[in-house]
Amino acid sequence: MSIKNRIDAFKAELTPCQLIAVSKTQPLPALWEAYEAGQRLFGENKVQEMVAKYEALPKDIEWHLLGHLQTNKVKYIAPFVSLIHSVDSLKLLLEIDKQGKKSKRIISCLLQIHIAQEETKFGLNEVELLDLVKQASPLSNVRIIGLMGMASLTENNQQIRQEFQHLKKLFDTLKGMELSTNIHMTELSMGMSSDYSIALQEGSTMVRIGTAIFGNRSTP
Ligand SMILES: *Cc1c(COP(=O)(O)O)cnc(C)c1O
Repeated sequence: MSIKNRIDAFKAELTPCQLIAVSKTQPLPALWEAYEAGQRLFGENKVQEMVAKYEALPKDIEWHLLGHLQTNKVKYIAPFVSLIHSVDSLKLLLEIDKQGKKSKRIISCLLQIHIAQEETKFGLNEVELLDLVKQASPLSNVRIIGLMGMASLTENNQQIRQEFQHLKKLFDTLKGMELSTNIHMTELSMGMSSDYSIALQEGSTMVRIGTAIFGNRSTP
C-alpha cells in the first residue's frame, strides 16, 4: 500500500478524530506524498528537523511537536508551531509563553501526563497537573487545549485500555473545572500505530501515527 492509500484508510476509520502523521526521520519525498494525499497535520520530535521541514514544505501544513522539548529550543519553533504536545513543566510553559510573546502568537499546548507503567522522567502526575494548570492561568501567550499521554509498551491490551481510561478521566475532570480563559480542554492526544484503535474507543481526539503510515524509521 502507498502512503496515500494508508492515509485515506486512516482518515476513513478515524474521522472525526484527527490524524497526526508522525514524520520524524522520514525524508521529504515521503512527506510530500502524504501532503499530496491531503494530509496537513504532521508531527515531529526534533526541533532542528521540524524547522528544516517547515522551511522546505508548503506553509499550510500544521506542525505538531511531540516528545521532549528542551527549553532553549522553543525559540526556533515558536514562530510557526501549531501545537506542542509535550508540556510537562512550568519552566517549559513559561518559556513557550515568553517566545509566544516575541512572535506575537498564542501558542497552543497539551500537557503531557505520565500514564504508563514504565519509569520515565517525562510527563506529569495528577498533583503536578493540577499545580501546572493553576500556574498557567496568568500566561497570556499560551493556550492549553488538552492532554497527551503514551500508554505502556506492552502486548496487554487491557492494561493499555486502563491507562487510556485513566487519561480520559483526568481530561473530563479538568473539563468540568472552572479554569482560566486560556485553558480550553478540547483535545485528547492518545494512540500511536500499535494502540490507536484502543485509544479511539476510549475517547481520543488526536492519534499520532508514524510507522503505520510511513513504514519503519531508519533511526529511532
Ligand atoms: C514516534 C512517536 C509517535 C508515533 O509512533 P509510531 O509507533 O511510529 O506510530 C507517536 N507519539 C510520539 C510522542 C512519538 O514520539
